[in-house]
Amino acid sequence: MVGAGVMAVLAMSLLAAAASGVAEARPPTDYSGFAGWRAAFKPKAAAVGISAATFERALGAIEPDLGVIDLLRRQPELHVAIWDYLDRTVSSERVTRGRDLLIRHQDLLAAIEDAHRVDRHVLVAIWGIESTYGDKKGTRNVVRSLATLGWAGGRRSVYGETQLLAALAILEAGDVVPEAMTGSWAGAMGHTQFVPTTYRAFAVDFDKDGRRDVWGTLGDALGSTAAYLKKSGWRFGEPWGYEVRLPAGYDYLQTGLGVIQPMPVWQGLGITRRDGLPFPDGLPEGSVLLPTGAKGPAFLVLPNFRALLHYNSNVTYGIAAGLLADRLEGLPEHPLAWPRHLRLLEVAERLELQRLLAARGFDVGVVDGVVGTQTRKAIMTFQRTIGMLPDGYASEEVLAALRTGHADGVSSARPEPAALER
Ligand code: CA
Repeated sequence: MVGAGVMAVLAMSLLAAAASGVAEARPPTDYSGFAGWRAAFKPKAAAVGISAATFERALGAIEPDLGVIDLLRRQPELHVAIWDYLDRTVSSERVTRGRDLLIRHQDLLAAIEDAHRVDRHVLVAIWGIESTYGDKKGTRNVVRSLATLGWAGGRRSVYGETQLLAALAILEAGDVVPEAMTGSWAGAMGHTQFVPTTYRAFAVDFDKDGRRDVWGTLGDALGSTAAYLKKSGWRFGEPWGYEVRLPAGYDYLQTGLGVIQPMPVWQGLGITRRDGLPFPDGLPEGSVLLPTGAKGPAFLVLPNFRALLHYNSNVTYGIAAGLLADRLEGLPEHPLAWPRHLRLLEVAERLELQRLLAARGFDVGVVDGVVGTQTRKAIMTFQRTIGMLPDGYASEEVLAALRTGHADGVSSARPEPAALER
């Protein structure tokens, strides 16, 4: 997982490229043109105040890292089922280790909480997810990775150049030398995987030694994460959300991050916590999320969940960070009933689904392979017309029903009573 905003940028552009059938990044066999790209990029760096000395020191002798292009093309994170992702990120091993680290670093974490008003459990959860508590910070030369993306990253060239300019500015400021500026293939750096633009805007020198060192100084890394989450709207002491039960006959139009209601409204609709405990008083407004439709768990998410989405806009990431933070805080594990038998639709199938919906007159918004709010609404409306439970989830069954045009073909998809009472 790459952090602090980069995921969304890359995911969206990949899908857009797939939608338009445009050739992806250049084949990773050809070095020609890199020197030309570097010469053309140099005045762009100079224009934002990068000295010739810094430019030459960082970029003068590097060659492209073609492994970066290979990773860009594969991007394994994009097609992982949420249950597989959560198995990996919220493992019992990670919980156990995180609890040990909370004790070992309790004085530092207390100081960061006092300074930035962000809860320690979520900071350690992000640390665990982003780099496995510092084990996997990434060892690639960030300038080289970003230069490679800038040169041959196809639609990610703009991302690569933008992040590279920020990386050069960090070097110019003297926080780190080029050889020590290491990170992921997409340029995410240090314990909590800050990309250079996020680093420039939010990184802090928490231990006040004059350098913002997110690679080697844990206080700087977690302090920077706290500073970023606070700016993203984190509210100290509040939960991120809850797994909930929806009442029978729930209107699935009342789901998604676009539907925000005060807690009394949700409680009035009959939504309760899955663990059976009452909601605490005074909770702020929230939204209901069904990551895998009516066949999977439901969550009621609060403003702190939206703060997590500033770190990584993928809803799956936010749920993972929230669940791991809960476990680190000592809350009991509640196994989530994911529909592990479901197969995720490929990009080509999501595009087909959108085209078929549009052909029937349903408004899916832009046909881009992304199942957003408009597409989910279109799916719900279609599901209603054929007597399928209208949960808006882009399932194989919905696609099959669209292909055949016969409601008979989807009788097995009709809701079982248990699914409605979950
Ligand atoms: Ca420092």
